[in-house]
Amino acid sequence: NYNESLGAPKVPKVQWSDIGGLNNVKEEIMKTINLPLRRPDLFKKSGLTRSGILLFGPPGTGKTLIAKAVATECSLCFLTVKGPELLNMYVGQSEQNIREVFERARQASPCIIFFDELDSLAPNRGLSGDSGGVMDRVVSQLLSEMDGLNNGAKVFIIGATNRPDLIDPALLRPGRFDKLLYVGPCTEEGSKVSVMQALTKKFKLASDVDPQEIVSSCPKNITGADLYGICSTAWSSAAKRLIDRIERDALNAEEFTDQHVEVTAADFAR
Ligand code: ATP
Repeated sequence: NYNESLGAPKVPKVQWSDIGGLNNVKEEIMKTINLPLRRPDLFKKSGLTRSGILLFGPPGTGKTLIAKAVATECSLCFLTVKGPELLNMYVGQSEQNIREVFERARQASPCIIFFDELDSLAPNRGLSGDSGGVMDRVVSQLLSEMDGLNNGAKVFIIGATNRPDLIDPALLRPGRFDKLLYVGPCTEEGSKVSVMQALTKKFKLASDVDPQEIVSSCPKNITGADLYGICSTAWSSAAKRLIDRIERDALNAEEFTDQHVEVTAADFAR
């Protein structure tokens, strides 16, 4: 059963301080969600439709992270739907899955539904050559569920994609995914440094570690996920050094915690 496989929606635990850079995206997304959350009645009375947000950009740039941080900040439950997992080969089942996702979100409201890989769920119907087929019905179902939310339900929709060009234009109209926000790799030194700082905030760093210096040797366009890779490799290298020392000197391993793992500049050079 697809619905059960989703698990119970929970408020995530991602803080803004876990995210480096992306300040303008943070600001825009908070504005879009916060107002209708605080005053759903105003929106309902105005007859205006509320915006769904589409985060687009290359893989590993922090789209999922930012959606979760908004949920944490606004105390909203978070329901992740991965496009390809929702699709089902049986006739009518994919549409049924969409209905159930929205129903589940309403029950858990206030809630964010995060559609990851939205392009796989809502491909441009003109391009897919599937007119009247299953994808057509999936898109229609998604549209009607989204339109139904304008009734004041505290359910917010965020989509993510690497390929916004593949998404059915009907989904990008006002009241649907009409707020497009680009989430890109880190191009400026400053944002690389702030991502490094976010990723290492729980590390014990040796005094010779200089984030500025580390990022200056990184490629020009590097993603948050790439920087995560660099930081986790450095941490593993430092942890290995500690474990080797404990074994070599026959120390009591229980006396050591992650705060004894001291990450040095040399660990980052590996
Ligand atoms: P995909 O398109 O592959 O789903 P995504 O854009 O949703 O990628 P995330 O899953 O948010 O990317 O990021 C992957 C990991 O990279 C995060 O768990 C985090 O460790 C790190 N990361 C990415 N961007 C940032 C950032 N701005 N600050 C801190 N960490 C980041």
